[in-house]
Amino acid sequence: MIVEVGNAVDGVQVGQRVVVNPLLGCTARGFRDLCPNCARGEPNLCLRFHQGTVSAGTMIGFCRDTGGSWSPSFVAHRSQVIPVPDSLSDEEAVLAEPFGVALHAVLRNRPGDDQTVLVLGAGIIGLLTVAAIRAVGSRARVIVTARYPFQAEAAARLGADVVLRARRGADLYRQVAQITGAEVLKPVIGRPLVQGGADIVFDCVGTGRTIDDALRLARAGGRVVLVGLASSPSGVDWTPVWLHEVEIRGAVAYAVEEFRGERVDAVRLAVRLMAEKAVDLKPLVTHTFALADYRRALETVTSKGSSGVIKAVFAFEPSDVVKTSS
Ligand SMILES: [Zn+2]
Repeated sequence: MIVEVGNAVDGVQVGQRVVVNPLLGCTARGFRDLCPNCARGEPNLCLRFHQGTVSAGTMIGFCRDTGGSWSPSFVAHRSQVIPVPDSLSDEEAVLAEPFGVALHAVLRNRPGDDQTVLVLGAGIIGLLTVAAIRAVGSRARVIVTARYPFQAEAAARLGADVVLRARRGADLYRQVAQITGAEVLKPVIGRPLVQGGADIVFDCVGTGRTIDDALRLARAGGRVVLVGLASSPSGVDWTPVWLHEVEIRGAVAYAVEEFRGERVDAVRLAVRLMAEKAVDLKPLVTHTFALADYRRALETVTSKGSSGVIKAVFAFEPSDVVKTSS
């Protein structure tokens, strides 16, 4: 909710319910002339994250001048503010940002209706990736790996065709091969390789193990999309990248996407698709905490097996909000 509006800002009012696209690209940094990436609609790849009117940082929450959402209030540029329609609850609206991440990953790597997609991981980003595939109208066959039963249930409800509880090892390879009509080959050296496999693998975990699996479970000439935060994965065998010419693509945050003949910001699209009831994400918000309870919130999200958490959120009371002036 907006609690204060700058002098030069119009089009938004105090009291209005909004979400933000937190990226601090050229426009949010006060540049009128945009860098080539922002000009192309890719502020997630902005070349000026360290320049302009606010301190260095890629987004709100990672910039010392803006504050972040772990506080009763933070500042945002007018260009970042997205109104929330009345038909959307606060619980749904809070998912606009992560759903925007999934929509960006999916719309940049949109599966054809006759293709098979493998989503590794059924945490919030994996589940939202499944939701995004369906929300944009793809009828691709979707296979998901899920660690916990509550994640498996959520994946099925959001439109996964097959949910595998085997997350790794021979079982996972055998099951994916069976579903995709592929063969599991055992090389003389190294781990098994699937001949056949998924057209697109979305790795929504980003560990060395899942990246290694993703490369081996993609078909020859297929694609692996790194949606999870892959940093320094160890133990990845890159053989499939050359032997099978598997393509690897990153997907970070959100950008302006092509969708049904128009160009639209992924976070705005997330709000719109939820408001149009193209997808029901409300059940994914499983836990709500007051900010003062942040320790309990962290314990909850780090013990998924016992807590059953998918997405935990902070709820703020109006009395929590501190205005910056007046
Ligand atoms: Zn830029």
